[in-house]
Amino acid sequence: MSNSRRCAACKYLRRRCPKDCVFGPYFPSNNIERFSCVHKIFGASNVAKMLKRLPDGKRREAAESLVVEARSRVRDPVYGSVGTITQLRQQILEAEFELAKTQGLIALRRAQHLHEQQQQQQQQHHLLLKSETDEKLITNYNQDHFHFDYSYNNPQQQITSFGDYFSDESYLY
Ligand SMILES: [Zn+2]
Repeated sequence: MSNSRRCAACKYLRRRCPKDCVFGPYFPSNNIERFSCVHKIFGASNVAKMLKRLPDGKRREAAESLVVEARSRVRDPVYGSVGTITQLRQQILEAEFELAKTQGLIALRRAQHLHEQQQQQQQQHHLLLKSETDEKLITNYNQDHFHFDYSYNNPQQQITSFGDYFSDESYLY
């Protein structure tokens, strides 16, 4: 019964787990690997000292940090967590570079699109001006032509005026 109640640290160190064991709350018996890493890198007594120096409210966070730091050091004995930080920093730099490149491409495509739109608008404006000018020329021509044709196409008016002329009795007698 006493064995099952021992924390991971006491199990690992093959000792009795006191009721007020400093490791107990942070190193549960079902995860020996957590404590073995911490013990290998920092040593059990150092970890106990570090935890005891802290207020209860800070101990869980401190134990988590020690586990993360110890696992990194086991995985990478030379650089430890610094190796992971450097790797992540490199990934951030690469991602930032990609982002800047993509934003640059987007800005370039937008500028090209805007330029094309402006060119199309200018072409449409030129075409509109040209058609308006052509229309004016045609209208002017038609107006001139209409004046010319007016008398020609309305002989009745000429006749009427001649009729009026001839109906002038002073002329007949
Ligand atoms: Zn214990």
